Amino acid sequence: MDDIRTNLERVRERIARAAERAGSRAEDVLLVGVSKTVDVERIRRAVAAGLPALGENRVQEAREKIAVLARPVPWHLVGHLQTNKVRDALELFDLIHSLDRLDLARECDRRARTRGRPVEALVQVNVAGEASKGGFDPDAVGEALEASAALEYVRVRGLMTIPPAVERAEQARPWFRALAQLGKRHGLAELSMGMSADFEVAIEEGATMVRVGTAIFGPRPAPQARQSP
Ligand SMILES: *Cc1c(COP(=O)(O)O)cnc(C)c1O
Repeated sequence: MDDIRTNLERVRERIARAAERAGSRAEDVLLVGVSKTVDVERIRRAVAAGLPALGENRVQEAREKIAVLARPVPWHLVGHLQTNKVRDALELFDLIHSLDRLDLARECDRRARTRGRPVEALVQVNVAGEASKGGFDPDAVGEALEASAALEYVRVRGLMTIPPAVERAEQARPWFRALAQLGKRHGLAELSMGMSADFEVAIEEGATMVRVGTAIFGPRPAPQARQSP
């Protein structure tokens, strides 16, 4: 039995039902399969089974996988991006979900200008103002968008958030709703929110992209078991 194919089918069904509850269409929600720590063979199977986009959170790990798999589907960067890795990131990724500070936006602009191709990005919002997380405070999003709009080679398509850890998915709803309200206020089309534990609630609140790892690929090794970059 192909566990990945089965997992993917289940996730797709759950997306469809959540979209229906939200009065939207499953086709309007992009499923980004977060493949960090997952080996290329399993990723290949997920793509063969119809996964439409891949997400990675480390530039180097993505580089190695893309060298093997190429680009059967778009690759998205969902993790923190260091300024000194922007050049590589622009080469590898079709969308950056984690524009979380202005100096990063400026470096993206500079590097994208050199390449002659604008970068597509989402502005990351720290919805609960957690000290441990990156992203703009909700109050600072307007200013961040204004500053980004002035950058010719940065195209902000929407907002992304990783809400505080909660015990039940339902508890994340207010954070998703807050992001959706911000997106609406600023006329942004895309909302990247929701992971394995809570993507249905995120879709009910208007997510247009969900970032799902475990529910597709199975559990990841504990962080301390990971190889260093
Ligand atoms: C790992 C990761 C995900 C996927 O998490 P799961 O709980 O495995 O679905 C989504 N978004 C980001 C930013 C991640 O780092």
